[in-house]
Amino acid sequence: MNTTEARQTIQKRYREKNKERLAAKAKEYRRNNRERLLAYAREYREQHREEAVAYQRKYNQSEAHKEALKQYRQKPEVRAKESAAQIARYHAMTPEQKAAWTAQKVVYNRERRKSPEVKEAHRQWHKGWYRLAREEVIQHYGGKCSCCGETQYEFLSLDHVNNDGHKHKKVGVTAHTLHQWAKNNGYPDTLQVLCYNCNCAKGVYGACPHQTTNKLMVDVGE
Ligand SMILES: [Zn+2]
Ligand SMILES: [Zn+2]
Repeated sequence: MNTTEARQTIQKRYREKNKERLAAKAKEYRRNNRERLLAYAREYREQHREEAVAYQRKYNQSEAHKEALKQYRQKPEVRAKESAAQIARYHAMTPEQKAAWTAQKVVYNRERRKSPEVKEAHRQWHKGWYRLAREEVIQHYGGKCSCCGETQYEFLSLDHVNNDGHKHKKVGVTAHTLHQWAKNNGYPDTLQVLCYNCNCAKGVYGACPHQTTNKLMVDVGE
């Protein structure tokens, strides 16, 4: 160990031993020399302005900054403030600026919709909305399979009583949009709720075995 290293070790030990006392002393020094220190800091900033700007620019491009900014902008109060500011900016624009801004927004939104997160969020939202809309219609038709009484939502479907769904398909009403059609047309009694089992059997065999079996039993009983 050379002398410089030895001195550094002693100083370090001294600082550690007197940590609190030194901190209090430094605090007092800052309090007593506030104006002078502020002036010095100001002068330092002015002399190193370019460095600081370059550093700030570099930081602004970093992932850490982007993430921090993203977190900050997700806060409800910040979002409200930003959207109010945006509305104010829009109102202050000339008609040409408004048109340019809208065109830019259209492009931005188109690109944004392609991102996996937005796609997934939309899918979830649509799933919830679609289910609610479909459930409402199923409830209108009794909320259970007209054949076997099944009430589990996932097993239920809308069925064309007279098996004329193909006519609907020709005019663009699909299995996916049938519930909306029913609602728009006052829930006609040409539709009913069937579970997928009963619906499928009716479609393939002309009647659900629940019905034919019951009929046979009645026939035998008579
Ligand atoms: Zn059924
Ligand atoms: Zn059935």
